[in-house]
Amino acid sequence: MTTTTRTAVVTGAARGIGAGVAKRLAADGFAVAVIDLDEAACKPVAEEIEATGGRALAVGVDVADEQGVQAAVDRIAKELGEPTVLVNNAGIIRDNLMFKMTADDWDAVMNVHLRGSFLMTRAVQGYMTKAGWGRIVSLSSTSALGNRGQANYAAAKAGLQGFTKTLAFELGKFGVTANAIAPGFIETEMTAATAERVGMPFEEFKKAAASQIPVARTGRPADIAHAVSFFVSEGAGFVSGQVLYVAGGPKA
Ligand code: NAP
Repeated sequence: MTTTTRTAVVTGAARGIGAGVAKRLAADGFAVAVIDLDEAACKPVAEEIEATGGRALAVGVDVADEQGVQAAVDRIAKELGEPTVLVNNAGIIRDNLMFKMTADDWDAVMNVHLRGSFLMTRAVQGYMTKAGWGRIVSLSSTSALGNRGQANYAAAKAGLQGFTKTLAFELGKFGVTANAIAPGFIETEMTAATAERVGMPFEEFKKAAASQIPVARTGRPADIAHAVSFFVSEGAGFVSGQVLYVAGGPKA
């Protein structure tokens, strides 16, 4: 194990699961690039990491923007350190039943989840292969198994599982692992927005969800951050191409 600090990149890290992951990886000893659409929104997360003695860099970029992603990764390598950990977490929902779903709803979701993860991974993987060590974790979802009103999101999240397995095949010999985490219901602004869409107070929505979950509660960003922490750890080098459902009970 090297003694120099490794650099991790977490996308969609201004809030929710991404912010939880960024803080956890900082606590694990990584320098962390906190990426989100709006740099100002990333700053409080980066400042919180620095306030606890860690190193962080707030970076504003749209993960679906090819030039923007390359520039952001170049900047991270220069200002924070060459990244060898990537967490593809940025995500959006544009839910609707099939007959009401627009092509824009479809494209927007594909662009952030699939194009975004592809561009980020392509930009970062060279540092990993050069180092002979790397960890890629992509956020899938239980919706990959199919979910009413989420044809676009389910397809994107299932796509990320195939993407992950392919990365595992291509990059394994360079010491790089790729895994996916498929969360169930996690309390974030994303699930709060779903509650609003179906016209339910968030607390009631969470209670209804918890009643269907074997561990009898909804998940929190820290639950996902813990799983990410495992996948990026030194000891997880023989775990690759896996999809871990973190949903308070069995899935798949
Ligand atoms: P969230 O609270 O909505 O946070 C997502 C973050 O991603 C936001 O800060 C958002 O920025 C950012 N983002 C969106 N588009 C982006 C882009 N093009 N480039 C860079 N950043 C972008 O969502 P979350 O609940 O934490 O979800 C995180 C990930 O977990 C997502 O991939 C989601 O699909 C997945 N997931 C979540 C759950 C759940 O129950 N919450 C379950 C399964 C999977 P803005 O605020 O500026 O839009």
